[in-house]
Formats: sequence, structure tokens, C-alpha cells
Amino acid sequence: MLELEDALSRLFSLLPTPQTEIVAVEETCGRVLGESARATVALPPFDNSAMDGYAVRAADTAAASSAHPVRLRVVGKIAAGNVFSGELAPHQCVRLFTGSPLPRGADAVVMQEATRLEPQHREEVSVLEPVKPWENVRLQGEDIKAGSELAATGTVLSPGHVSLLAAAGLGQVRVGRRPSVALLATGSELRAPGETLAPGQIYESNRAGLAPLIQRAGGVPKTFPLVPDNLTETRAALHGAFQECDMVVTSGGVSVGEMDFVKRAFEEIGGELQFWKVAIKPGRPFVLGRLGKQFLFGLPGNPVSALVTCLLLVTPAVLRWQGAEQVEPPVYPGVLAEPLVNEGPRRHFMRVRLDAAGQVHSAGLQASHALSSLARANGLVDVPPATTLPAGQQVRVIGW
Ligand code: AMP
Ligand code: MG
Repeated sequence: MLELEDALSRLFSLLPTPQTEIVAVEETCGRVLGESARATVALPPFDNSAMDGYAVRAADTAAASSAHPVRLRVVGKIAAGNVFSGELAPHQCVRLFTGSPLPRGADAVVMQEATRLEPQHREEVSVLEPVKPWENVRLQGEDIKAGSELAATGTVLSPGHVSLLAAAGLGQVRVGRRPSVALLATGSELRAPGETLAPGQIYESNRAGLAPLIQRAGGVPKTFPLVPDNLTETRAALHGAFQECDMVVTSGGVSVGEMDFVKRAFEEIGGELQFWKVAIKPGRPFVLGRLGKQFLFGLPGNPVSALVTCLLLVTPAVLRWQGAEQVEPPVYPGVLAEPLVNEGPRRHFMRVRLDAAGQVHSAGLQASHALSSLARANGLVDVPPATTLPAGQQVRVIGW
């Protein structure tokens, strides 16, 4: 049986070199950067005002107070997008707004709230407080220098990155191609939600839960029809899915039960099985298969096992396939509010709820079929075999 980490590194070693494509910057959230992104301009691109107010020479305001305001002559006004063509002389100021370029000669901005307009001095403004040099000024390049790296190759782009790339002038960005991922559910007992159930049948739920997990990792899920438990139909379904998609995720039919056809059907269409047991709970039966440059992930049928193995094994592969450097789910620190007990011989990724105070609670029934606790959970805690983690213990909560 393989440890999770060994399974992941074997899996990563099999993945092909990522392919890249160029997309519009606004389409890049969640995509993986395919080359180092560099700024075409500095940020800010020019010295500019952080406030609505007046551009001044700081020295002119040194003696200002509300009892004895300093009067400066207003020689211009700079609306956003405009520039002041002249240069500020002593005892002059220019009206400007947040983001207006600082005129030449000015070295500070007095905010509007620290000024007063006097009806009898219409060309002037009274400054009520001194400002220090460069106060209320956003300096050119203080955020990003022109030509510097905005994000490294392999970065999964967040909304913040997308905004930064756009601000730095990148209209188009090279990113890893997204894999298309077929979702197949095997099991003659399965019916689509909304249909009427005959005795012994259950509603199929894995494809619905797996699709958003794949999507969140940047894959493009494609749902295929239900596959009954027989070799011919399993083989045909796998063949069809591999015609269309880069990866195929199946659920069910991978244990040693007589009705389990996925492994055999995959080998019959030319696939090569890599391994099929990972020492984790939920989710021990897990198949990795390779068909040329395409991959099969055979997940267990139990709904919690299917989703947890997808989170721990498939989504990292989907991300690494696109070239992502950081592929594991995020981890948050927390403190157990109650003990977590793993009596079994395998690591148990237990469903928990991390609250806003950092306390970690069991999310409920931990059996592999129990979806209510998965729905309640916002994380998993990796509890070692035959171990009780006591209340008060610091734990790492894997974001779910
Ligand atoms: P299997 O891995 O095929 O032996 O299935 C294990 C358990 O999960 C059985 O109780 C199945 O009925 C159930 N199961 C399998 N596939 C699904 C699915 N797609 N949706 C809901 N339950 C499933
Ligand atoms: Mg089954």
C-alpha cells in the first residue's frame, strides 16, 4: 500500500510537460502562469496624489496653523487623466484629486480637509496645517518597478494577481492549458437525481460533487452518462471518454468486488495501471492509469471517499498538469475543541469544522458514505493511524 505522499510524487513524475496558451488577462483567474509575468510600466506609473487637495511645496506650509493659515495662490487644476504643463513656483499650489499626477516643483499634497477657501481671496487657498515633504504623495514605482517580476512561472493566479497584471499593462498572458476531465459514475444501482427510484436504487451524487472540485483546480469537467456494472459497457464508456478528454475520473467499481470492472476495462482498451491502493481513509481503493499521455483516476464509489481522494490526489494532479508549483490544498492552523479518534491502521482525513475563533470541531459521522458531515465540514484533519488527538491539540486543517 502506498503512502499519500509517495502516490503523489509517482503521479507527478508521470505527468507530461505542461502545454501553454495565451489568454486575455481578465480570463486568467485560477489559471497557472506559463511564463514569468513582467511589468510593462512602473506602479504607480508616475508620482501622484493620494488625496483630493492641493499640490504644494512642503516648505511653504511649514508655518501653517488654523489660527494662522498660509495662503497659497491656486495656479491650476489637474483632473484625473490630465497633467499640469507648468512648474510650481514658491507660494503657488495646484488643485488636484486622488490619482492626479503631481506637478513639477511640488513635493507634497495638502488634503482638502486641511484647507479653507476665503470668499475675499478667490484665487487663493488657506492651508491650515503643515505637510512634510512627500506627504500624501504616491511615488512612482513604490509598488512595482518597471520590468520587475509580477508573478513567477507556475503561480496559480488569484483575483489579486489578475488585477496586478492588468494594472501593469499586460493585456494577454501565457498560461497552462486546462485539462478536460471526463466524469464517469459506475454502478447499476445509480439513478440521476430527480428520477424515480426503484427498490435497491440510489441517487448518483459523485459526478455533481466532483465537477466543482475539478473546476476549482482549473480543469474543465465534462459529465458522461451513468455506466452500469458490466465489462462491455464500462469498456465502451472509458473508450468514449478517452476519445474526448485529457483525463478520465471514474467513481465506483475499483475494489475487489466481483462487479468491479473499471480496472479490467481500462486494461482492455490499452491502459496501463500504475497502482491501486493508497493508505488513506476514506479512500483506499484508488486507481491511477495511463493511456499514452492521458490519465485515468479511478476513485472509490463511496461518496465521501470519492470526493476526498479527488481533493487529495486528483486536484493536485490537475493543477500540476497545468504547470502549477503549489498544488496542495491550503492549510489553516486550529485548536481541537474535542478529541479526534482514529482507531484504524490508516491515516484518517477526518471531516472538521474550523470556526472563526480557530476552534476545530468534528463535523459529525465520519463513515465513508456519510455526506452530511462532508457538507458541514470546511476542512480535514490528517489523524495518524491508531491515534487520539486530544482536545486543545494544535492541528493543521486542510481546506476543503
Ligand atoms: P463501489 O466502489 O462501486 O463498490 O461503491 C461503494 C458504495 O458507494 C456503494 O454503496 C455504492 O452504491 C456507492 N456509490 C458508488 N457510486 C456512487 C455514486 N456515483 N453516487 C452515490 N453513491 C455511489
Ligand atoms: Mg459499484
